[in-house]
This record gives sequence, C-alpha cells and structure tokens, in this order.
Amino acid sequence: MLVGNSPTVNIRITGDPLPTSKLGDAVHCFPPDIGQGVNSALEDVCILNQALSQTNDIISNALPLFESLRSPDIKPLILLAQTAFPWQYNQDIPRKRLWTINFFIRLLLSRILPFIFSPPAFILIQNHQLSYGEIWAMAQRTTIYIYVFGLMLMSGSLAWFLYDIGWF
Ligand SMILES: Cc1cc2nc3c(=O)[nH]c(=O)nc-3n(C[C@H](O)[C@H](O)[C@H](O)COP(=O)(O)OP(=O)(O)OC[C@H]3O[C@@H](n4cnc5c(N)ncnc54)[C@H](O)[C@@H]3O)c2cc1C
Repeated sequence: MLVGNSPTVNIRITGDPLPTSKLGDAVHCFPPDIGQGVNSALEDVCILNQALSQTNDIISNALPLFESLRSPDIKPLILLAQTAFPWQYNQDIPRKRLWTINFFIRLLLSRILPFIFSPPAFILIQNHQLSYGEIWAMAQRTTIYIYVFGLMLMSGSLAWFLYDIGWF
C-alpha cells in the first residue's frame, strides 16, 4: 500500500497497517489567540515520550496509552481556545465587548471571593501547574456560581421591590 506521495517520502508497507497517532496542530489546531499552540504540542511530545518509556518503546502499545493519557485534556484545550480569549483581532466588536465585561466580572469576583470564584480562564492558562482539564472545570464551576449569584441578586432585588411597594 502506498502511504506517502510527497517528492521526498515514498513508503511502501505490507501486512497490517502501522499504528498511528496525531500530535500538535494535527489534533488540536486553533487560532493563536491563547498562545498555547507550541506549549500544547510540546506537552503532547512529553506525554508520548512517557507512554513510550512505560511500554518499552513498543509502538503498538505506546500509542493507545498516549491517547488514553492525553485525550482528557484535548477537548478542554479546544474549548478553552474557543472561549478564553477569542476576539483579539476585533472580528466581532459587540461580542468582544460582552466577552470583556464577562472577563472583568470574573476578575473582580475572583479578587473579592477567591475561594468561590476562579479568575478568567485566560489568566488560569498562564499557570503551568494546572492542566487544561482543570482550568476548564474551574471556569465552568465559576460560570455556574455566577448564574446562581445573579439569580440570588435578582430574587433579592425583586423581593426588596415588592416589599417597598407594600406587597408584603
Ligand atoms: C500566525 C500564527 C501565530 C502563532 N502564535 C503562536 C504563539 O504566540 N504561541 C504559541 O504557542 N503558538 C502560536 N502559534 C501556533 C503554533 O505555531 C502551532 O500551534 C505549533 O507550531 C504547532 O506545532 P506542530 O509541530 O504541531 O505543527 P507545525 O509547527 O505546523 O509543524 C508541522 C511541520 O510539518 C511539515 N509538514 C507538513 N506536511 C508535511 C508532509 N507531507 N511531509 C513532511 N513534512 C510536512 C510542515 O512543513 C511543518 O514544518 C501561532 C500560529 C500562527 C499561524
């Protein structure tokens, strides 16, 4: 079977297909907005190296292990690329403004109540000790808390208003 047709690569393989896996941009390609393209590609390489060490360099065992070790972080990474800082090229001014408001609300809340609210994902990404999965989970948890906090604020204001006009 002919698997390569570039001018310099021409490989002919017989028998079972060789196991393959994807790394770097080939698996998580996204715009450079969050500045994680190189870091995440290098992380892929480190984890592949770890998988190879654990399997005595047996590639057919190493690649499934690599994928099982790496995949939990890949989806969060792609979601972070879509949400952490998506409008840096002013593609959509109204949505960029909404994103900026959201960013500063999270920043403010995380400064006032750091044990409840996490800083915005774009700031968390700078912390190399957190995995993309952990950052995504923290951002999601803060989103839920913001909704709950907003709902409590609106209910409180409504109760106050009803009390003020003599409803109860
Ligand atoms: C404009 C721009 C700005 C960026 N800014 C940042 C930044 O600030 N910070 C950051 O972390 N990341 C940034 N990135 C993203 C970063 O460059 C990529 O995420 C990173 O290079 C991915 O590495 P990779 O090895 O997966 O792919 P690549 O670096 O694309 O390497 C793939 C290589 O494979 C070669 N190749 C392709 N096809 C074949 C073939 N058939 N045969 C042989 N060779 C082949 C290509 O020529 C290339 O050299 C930016 C990207 C762009 C486009």
